[in-house]
Amino acid sequence: MTTSPISPDIDFDADGVQHGWLRLPHSSERSAWGAIMIPICQVKNGAGPTALLTGGNHGDEYEGPIALFELTRALAAADVQGRVIIVPAMNHPALVAARRTSPLDGGNLNRSFPGAPDGGPTAKIADFFQRALLPLADYVLDFHSGGKTLEFAPFAAAHRLDDARQEAACMAAMRAFGAPYSVALRELDAVGMYDTAAEAMGKIFVSTEIGGGGTARAAGVRVARRGVRNFLRHAGILAGPVDVVDSVTLDMPDADCYVTSLSAGLIAPAADLGATVKAGDVLAEVHDVRRTGAAPDVYRARRDGVLIGRHFPGLVAMGDPIAVLGVPV
Ligand code: CA
Repeated sequence: MTTSPISPDIDFDADGVQHGWLRLPHSSERSAWGAIMIPICQVKNGAGPTALLTGGNHGDEYEGPIALFELTRALAAADVQGRVIIVPAMNHPALVAARRTSPLDGGNLNRSFPGAPDGGPTAKIADFFQRALLPLADYVLDFHSGGKTLEFAPFAAAHRLDDARQEAACMAAMRAFGAPYSVALRELDAVGMYDTAAEAMGKIFVSTEIGGGGTARAAGVRVARRGVRNFLRHAGILAGPVDVVDSVTLDMPDADCYVTSLSAGLIAPAADLGATVKAGDVLAEVHDVRRTGAAPDVYRARRDGVLIGRHFPGLVAMGDPIAVLGVPV
């Protein structure tokens, strides 16, 4: 297999705090022999587990990068037992462009795994995580939020897995994170996801969906800050007990948890995030903006649950998710 063109300028075996970059050569109109510089920090102290902490997998999701850039300033080597590798902006070109996907090649990093060392910049980043960083890790935490087009009630998530022991370990780490909601997440299509790559390697993997709308809110930033430290305490890398908070555990037993738009127009929400709804309750109406006097299309909950996700922009298109429900367990 071709060697990755990405070179890290930190030594993964060295104790102490290191700040550096993953350097990805990128020849462009602006810089002929330039490089994409992806910030990376490692804090290591002796033997112990390794946690790989990431944000900015999608570039328009902010609570994770905020909490992780903060953590790189806060952690001293003496604070940890083992190793913490922090990449606050995995898809750095997307983050600095405030975009979900890369402005360089259109790549959606979280649909690009396992990646390719001879692909575009996004495929090269995926390949480096797949072959160089994930193998170092025992625990993996990947921060997401809704980005510009979705908004979520803050939750940590783990997936149903074939390996019952691995699933239980992931669920325990998810609950330790301590978001207001803890969700056994059902993906619509898990192919190409970082999550899937980490889980296939047997890692203890937790992701989040904290807020959205292409911004961060104070409450969401607090969830991210507390969660990342709880995750490290749960892993035994940070000393001290997990800061236990009330978290509502939710399942997503089937595809009825998703309500998809079959219309285009102006979306009028009838329930807000965190609302408890019954099957048949109206979640939103969609108004046709091309004519007056037309009845709106009505979108209803298909099962009892809690509204944990919603379409964010004021206009919705056919095929967009209108609502995501979780079912209390
Ligand atoms: Ca995301």
